[in-house]
Amino acid sequence: MWFKSVQRSGDSTWVRYFNRRSGGTERCEQGARPRHSTVGPSNSADFASHCHRQSIGFIIFGFNKYQRLMINRATRSRIDWRFQIGGDILAEKVVIIGSGPAGWSAAIYAARASLAPLVFEGTFQPEMIPLGQLAYTTEVENYPGFPFGNIRSFVESAVSKDRHWNLPPIPNHLKDPKKRNSLEDIAPHYAVQGVELMELMKQQALNFDTRVVEDDIVDIDISSRPLKVIPSKGEPIETHAIIVATGARANYLGLPSEEAYKNKGVSACAVCDGALPTFVGKPLAVVGAGDSAVEEATYLANLKSAVKVSMIVRRDQMRASKIMQDRALNHPKIDVIWNTVVEEVLGDGNVVTGLKLKNTQNGSLRELAVGGMFVAIGHTPNTGFLGGKLALNEKGYIQWSLPFRTNTNVDGVFAAGDVADDYYRQAVTSAGTGCMAALDVERWLAEKGIE
Ligand SMILES: Cc1cc2nc3c(=O)[nH]c(=O)nc-3n(C[C@H](O)[C@H](O)[C@H](O)COP(=O)(O)OP(=O)(O)OC[C@H]3O[C@@H](n4cnc5c(N)ncnc54)[C@H](O)[C@@H]3O)c2cc1C
Repeated sequence: MWFKSVQRSGDSTWVRYFNRRSGGTERCEQGARPRHSTVGPSNSADFASHCHRQSIGFIIFGFNKYQRLMINRATRSRIDWRFQIGGDILAEKVVIIGSGPAGWSAAIYAARASLAPLVFEGTFQPEMIPLGQLAYTTEVENYPGFPFGNIRSFVESAVSKDRHWNLPPIPNHLKDPKKRNSLEDIAPHYAVQGVELMELMKQQALNFDTRVVEDDIVDIDISSRPLKVIPSKGEPIETHAIIVATGARANYLGLPSEEAYKNKGVSACAVCDGALPTFVGKPLAVVGAGDSAVEEATYLANLKSAVKVSMIVRRDQMRASKIMQDRALNHPKIDVIWNTVVEEVLGDGNVVTGLKLKNTQNGSLRELAVGGMFVAIGHTPNTGFLGGKLALNEKGYIQWSLPFRTNTNVDGVFAAGDVADDYYRQAVTSAGTGCMAALDVERWLAEKGIE
């Protein structure tokens, strides 16, 4: 928690940072910051006493008596520091809820447009994780701009040192296993890992002074203006605009063996993972019977490396539309196993080797040798905290009210990423709509004359 004071002596100007928690000070050249200055407040209570970018001019040494009184009141009552000189609390321009690709892209764009975004990044909840769904996965081969390479050295150079603890182990791949002539040859080469990619996105947002709170939003209040977001800890926060970027969590079967083999042959996204080495050249299974299960199965069956894809269907018919069913039933590499559920995922501890299947009609058990299982039984968009205040589509996803705009049915509330996308659900599409939401907010604020 650093407070900043610009000081001048003769021709030179420097910035003094005062750490309120430790009492320490650091002197930096103007434009530079102390090492941890990009680290935002870590919870709602910390946020209450964290400098607001807009207020920096105000938080200088040598306050007058009135300013000191206001600051003391702010500290005591745990209201944040956002005071105009007249003492009114300024509402946030935009609060972003969610810390996946949509949330960070929105934050980067909003911060660069001087909207001083405040991000609520969420906490660990069932099937939810700060940094979003990519934090559950290993290598991400389809995010543009991150080809296979010596990724870790770049990540470590870009991500603040105090976040290195969160970086996953480095995969043990070499650029070319036959060559070991130089240091470059022995540096691990791989596609960026999910957590690395998300740490980079977060860092990029922090670099532009995005403020981050490690908390969940449990409600929003749209009954008056400014709007309010209600965190699980701390005071409600007033804001002119809200971007909801809370994602959608994949549904799983709930088997302990399935949990044990996530990232080792169990996946919920064929487009994301189907071409990874774990699955290449192996018979695979897709569990589910809806349109998206057929999409997943045909995607896998059309891969160059496809061997055979077994669709495990609980009943004697599919929920998928007729045209999709025909696509699966007529595909030479797709085999449908009817009236069957997965009892257990089998493996050798490192990778999936098969499934124990149960016939739902006669209870008989059998084993199916597969190298991977894709669960395609739907997603649950994270909209529960909205309490029905935003219009949702028939699948429960937030509905955009204008074509190719991120506006929702509530003026000033925008939605980005998987929470508003029941179709693509990819990191890059989420990042794209996060960008759109920030631009939509910027234009909306300008239209309303909110500076
Ligand atoms: C195992 C797996 C592998 C994948 N692999 C790939 C891949 O290789 N390539 C690809 O493009 N896509 C992949 N995806 C899909 C991709 O992860 C998603 O499309 C993308 O993460 C969606 O981004 P988002 O920002 O919309 O939401 P999310 O990434 O889901 O992030 C939402 C965030 O909001 C937070 N949140 C939720 N509710 C609240 C609340 N009330 N208050 C505060 N915070 C909240 C959550 O904690 C989370 O951090 C994969 C998904 C999975 C599950």
